[in-house]
Amino acid sequence: MPFRTYMCVVCGWIYDEEHGHPEAGIPPGTLWQDIPADFTCPECGAGKTDFEMVEI
Ligand SMILES: [Zn+2]
Repeated sequence: MPFRTYMCVVCGWIYDEEHGHPEAGIPPGTLWQDIPADFTCPECGAGKTDFEMVEI
């Protein structure tokens, strides 16, 4: 299954499953569904529900 990418619809910050988000303790390869429900956008603080999957 290929990695997918999710975008914060509020500010446009991108979460790429392949790269993770090490700054927040999320290692590379972490699937979006495995990210804690209380994850918030590092740029604007929006919640997980404010992200949408995007095709690149
Ligand atoms: Zn954001």
